[in-house]
Amino acid sequence: MRLDKYLANSGVATRSVVKKIIKSNRIKVNDKIVNDPKFDVKDEEVFFDNKKISYRKYVYIMLNKPKDYISATFDKKHKIVIDLLNNEYSTYDIFPVGRLDIDTEGLLILTNDGVLAHNLLAPKKHVLKKYYVEIESKISSSDILKLENGVDIGDHITKSDTKINLIDDKSLYISISEGKFHQVKRMFEAVSNKVTYLKRVMMNNLELDSNLKLGEFRELSEEELKLLK
Ligand code: URA
Repeated sequence: MRLDKYLANSGVATRSVVKKIIKSNRIKVNDKIVNDPKFDVKDEEVFFDNKKISYRKYVYIMLNKPKDYISATFDKKHKIVIDLLNNEYSTYDIFPVGRLDIDTEGLLILTNDGVLAHNLLAPKKHVLKKYYVEIESKISSSDILKLENGVDIGDHITKSDTKINLIDDKSLYISISEGKFHQVKRMFEAVSNKVTYLKRVMMNNLELDSNLKLGEFRELSEEELKLLK
């Protein structure tokens, strides 16, 4: 990895400031001063003003996604969730773990850890996702049973591990272990209803921090990361 990226990723400073620091001969790689930002760091030790840098490889962020943002790293037409992060993270190749629809709010994990993302998204891992849902029409107990036992959403019959907790007859929590495109919306369409508001509140055992306002984010603690894994 380039020396400037290595230092920026380690939280020393932004990439442009780091370049100046490197040019002013304050960086040593092992015991030699290196003043080329492009220097390729492999497994050497790196020192800034003779203090050893501890390299941070992975970043784990919890975002309370607002609507109107796309869960992607690039989009020609819409705002992307990455735009909500600040510059501190610009040197990491961060991406959102899975997709929430443009009008869905709530818990979105952003990371550069591909293994974690795979483990959370692979269908075989059956990771639970819990959503708060508001619906257009009152829901009956027979529709709840149908949704819990599996409904036909067009290209797929949903699994029978769905759990619904009613709040009132037009709002509820639903937990599902699958992640098909528009799954929750299509499940309610399958029982002739319509989702009017959708928010993810939990993934695996990690809950969305209720102190995070829409569009706000923070890094996960070690404990939270364990709840997610
Ligand atoms: N199900 C949906 O329909 N939309 C989402 O964004 C997430 C789950």
